[in-house]
Amino acid sequence: SLYNRFARSFAEHSDRTAIETATRNWTYAQLESAAGRLASRLQARGVRVGERVLVQTDKSVETLVLYLATLRCGAIYLPLNNDYTESELAYFVGDATPVIAVCRDTSRELFARIGGSDLAVTTLQDLFEDLPADASPPVPRAGDDVAAILYTSGTTGKPKGAMLTHRNLASNGETLVDFWQFTPADRLIHALPIFHVHGLFVALHCALFSGATVIFQPKFDAKAALAAMPDATVMMGVPTFYIRLLAEDGFTAQVARNMRLFISGSAPLSADIHRAFEARCGHRVLERYGMTETGMLCSNPYHGERKAGFVGPPLPGVDLRIADGEGQALPQGEVGIVEVKGPNVFAGYWQMPEKTASEFRADWFFITGDMGLIDTDGYVQLVGREKDLIITGGLNVYPAEVEALLDDREDVAEAAVIGVPHPDFGEAVVAVLRANGAIDADAVREEMKRDLAGFKVPKAVIVIDEMPRNTMGKIQKKALRERYASFFE
Ligand code: ATP
Ligand code: MG
Repeated sequence: SLYNRFARSFAEHSDRTAIETATRNWTYAQLESAAGRLASRLQARGVRVGERVLVQTDKSVETLVLYLATLRCGAIYLPLNNDYTESELAYFVGDATPVIAVCRDTSRELFARIGGSDLAVTTLQDLFEDLPADASPPVPRAGDDVAAILYTSGTTGKPKGAMLTHRNLASNGETLVDFWQFTPADRLIHALPIFHVHGLFVALHCALFSGATVIFQPKFDAKAALAAMPDATVMMGVPTFYIRLLAEDGFTAQVARNMRLFISGSAPLSADIHRAFEARCGHRVLERYGMTETGMLCSNPYHGERKAGFVGPPLPGVDLRIADGEGQALPQGEVGIVEVKGPNVFAGYWQMPEKTASEFRADWFFITGDMGLIDTDGYVQLVGREKDLIITGGLNVYPAEVEALLDDREDVAEAAVIGVPHPDFGEAVVAVLRANGAIDADAVREEMKRDLAGFKVPKAVIVIDEMPRNTMGKIQKKALRERYASFFE
C-alpha cells in the first residue's frame, strides 16, 4: 500500500529531518509516531477501512500527519480547497458521504449544519489533544484500493471527485523520485496548498519517499521563498510563483546558488517567463504536465534539453497518444486530443459511472480533454483545452499559439485568448490581457497581423487589471467567456 511506501522512508531515514517549519522540525520517526497515534484516535472516533475522511484545514504539518494517519487506517483521504463556499461544501459532503469532517474551528457549525447527525465534525486541535500513547498497526490495503479522492480544480465546470488508488499514487511518486533524481540530501521549498495533487502528491511524495527535507511554508510568499532559497535545492511551483520571484530584485543567481531544480506545472508557463528566469538565475525551469485524474504525465528531462513552451516527453510507464475525436492516433506532428494510459491513471470519478465511462476509450486510454501535439523529438506541446478551442468561421484556433505571441511582447504581462459568440463567425477570437505599462490595443491587433493568419488575429483586445484565477493560479477562461459573452452583440 501507499502507507508501506512511507513506512519504508520512516524506517530508513528515521533520524533525518522530514519537515521544517518556522517553529518546529519533525524527524521521519516523529512523523511516523504521530501518524500511528493519530490513526488510533481516528479509529476510536469510528473511522473504518474505505470510509472517507474529509479535510478542510489550514496548511499545517498536523494536516500532513492526518493524511498519513488516514492512509494508515485504510480509510480514504478527501482534502478540500479552503475557498469553497457553503453550497459547494454541501455538494462535496452529500457527494462523498464522509464519516468525519476535520475542519477549522470557524467552520464547525457550517459542517454540522450540512452534514447532519451522520457526520462527526472535529478540528485538528481536538484530534491531536492527548493523543493515545499506542499507535494502531497499519491496515493492509491492495494496490487497487482507493487511497484518496481528490476533486479536480473546477476550471472547466463542477469539480469531479477522482478516485486515486494506492498503486496510482505510489507508482507515480516512485517515477518522479527517479526522474527528478531526488535524494536524502534534497531540501524542497514547499509553498503550495496541500489539498491539490501538486502540493500533496507531487511535492510531498517526491520528498518523503526519498528521505529529503521539506521546507514547509504556509503559503507562497516571494520574500519567504527567497529567505529559504540559499539553503534549498529544489522548488516546485505554479507559474505565478516564478512570475512573482522574477518581480523581486533580491532573486539572483547568488540566492539560487545551491538550487539544483525549479519545477513548474498546473498551468502553462510562458516561454517568455522561461527565458527571463534563465537570464536571471541561470536555471532553466523544468516544466511538467499532469492532472488530478492521472498524476504526472509528461516532464521535460532532468539532463538534456528543457524546451520552453513544451511539457516534455511522456514519463516512463505513461502511454500517450494524440488522437482524433474517435480515439484514433493521429500522424506525428498533428494537433489532437491527448489520451493516456498507465499505472498512474485513476480508477474513475467517484459515483459518476457514466461520466467515467465516457472519458475512457474502449482500450482504456483516458481522454484528458487537453489538446496538443508531439514534436519530432517526442516532446509534447499543449495548445489549450478542448473546451477552450475556438472555432471561428469554421476554422480552429488554438489559444496557446496566439497567447505565446502576445506573451512575447514587452507591453504584455500575460494574456488569455478566448472564443466569444459572434453574429458572423460563430465565435470570434478575443485577447484579454494584463499590460506592462501603457499599451495600445489597436496597435497590438495591427502588429499581430504580421505573424498570424487573419482568422487567428483577435477581433478585440481587452486590457484588464487582474486575471480571474483560482487558487492553483489557473486563469479562469470560463469566467472570461461569461464576462464578454455579449461583446459582439
Ligand atoms: P477541471 O477538470 O475541474 O476543469 P482542472 O482540469 O484545472 O479542473 P486539475 O486536475 O487541477 O483540474 O488540472 C489539470 C489540468 O491542468 C490539465 O488537464 C491541464 O489542462 C492543466 N495543466 C497542468 N499542467 C500544465 C502545464 N504544464 N501546462 C499547461 N497546462 C497544464
Ligand atoms: Mg480537468
